[in-house]
Amino acid sequence: MGVRALGAFSGGLDSMIAAKVLIDQGIEVEVVTFSSPFFASDAGRKGAIQLGIPWREIDYSETILSLLCNPPSGFGNNCNPCIDCHAGMFKKLGEIASVEGFDFIFSGEVAGQRPMSQNRGSLNRVARLSGYKEILLRPLSARLLPATEMEETGLVDRSRLLRLSGRSRKPQILIAEENDLQYKAPGGGCLLTEPNYCSRLRMLMDIPGLLTETNAHLIRYGRIFRLSKDTIGLVGRSEEDNERLEELALAGGKVTFALSDRPGPTGVLIGNRDNLEKLASLVTQYAKK
Ligand code: SF4
Repeated sequence: MGVRALGAFSGGLDSMIAAKVLIDQGIEVEVVTFSSPFFASDAGRKGAIQLGIPWREIDYSETILSLLCNPPSGFGNNCNPCIDCHAGMFKKLGEIASVEGFDFIFSGEVAGQRPMSQNRGSLNRVARLSGYKEILLRPLSARLLPATEMEETGLVDRSRLLRLSGRSRKPQILIAEENDLQYKAPGGGCLLTEPNYCSRLRMLMDIPGLLTETNAHLIRYGRIFRLSKDTIGLVGRSEEDNERLEELALAGGKVTFALSDRPGPTGVLIGNRDNLEKLASLVTQYAKK
C-alpha cells in the first residue's frame, strides 16, 4: 500500500490546492469536511468529487459549541475561536489516522494568511494543541516551515511542496486555473467570522442554556429581539425567513407564532414561554395588514 494522507478539507481554494499538491506526488489522499450550524459541508463534498478522492463528513457541532463557551486560546475578530477550532479538527483527524493507518494528516493552512490563527506562532500552537504535531503537514507553506518527519524520511517529497505565505491567493488561483479546478470563493465560509451573525450569537450566548445547535441555526433568520432577560424572539422578514424559521422550529420542538386569518411574519420563541404575548404583539406589529 502507498503513502496515505488524511486532510481537513473545506472545499475552498487552499484546501483544494493542498490536496492536489499531495495527489500529484502519488500520495493516496482522503479528506474530511467538518460541519456545524456555522459551516457547511457542501463545498467539501463537491471539491472531493472534482479531485476524485474519498470524502467523509464529520459533525463538529458539539465541539464547536463547547469551544464557544470557553475557548482556551480566545476569539479572533468576531466569534471565531480559530486556533482551538483548528486544533480540535486536527485532533479528530489524528485519531482517525491512528485507527485507520494513515501516514499523516494535512491542512490547507498558509503561514501568515490570517493575523490570529495562521501566523507562525499560531501554526505551532495549533499543532501542539492538536496532540498530533509530529504527523501534521501544511503542504502550502511546508518549505517555509521546519521539515516534518514525513519529509525527512522521504514519505513526502519536500521539493514538490510549496512555499506560500501571506494573504495573497494569487499563486493558489493560478494553480487552480492551470488544473481547471473550480473552488468555493475564499472567505465567507464560516458564520462565526461574520459580525452580524456574531452579534446575534452573543445575544444567545448571554442567556444560560440557550446556545444549542437548533438555536444557532434559527438565529440566522428574521429580526431578533431580546424579549426578557431569559428569552429571545425571532420575527421573519420575508417569505424565505418564515419558511426556514418554521422548518427549523418544528424540527427543534419550538413554539412558532403566526396570524391565523391574514398574511404576516412567523415568530419563534427561544426561551421562556411567559413571553409569548410579547412575541405575539411583535408578529402583529410587523404584519402588513
Ligand atoms: S473560520 Fe470558523 S471553521 Fe474556520 S477555524 Fe475559524 S472558527 Fe473554525
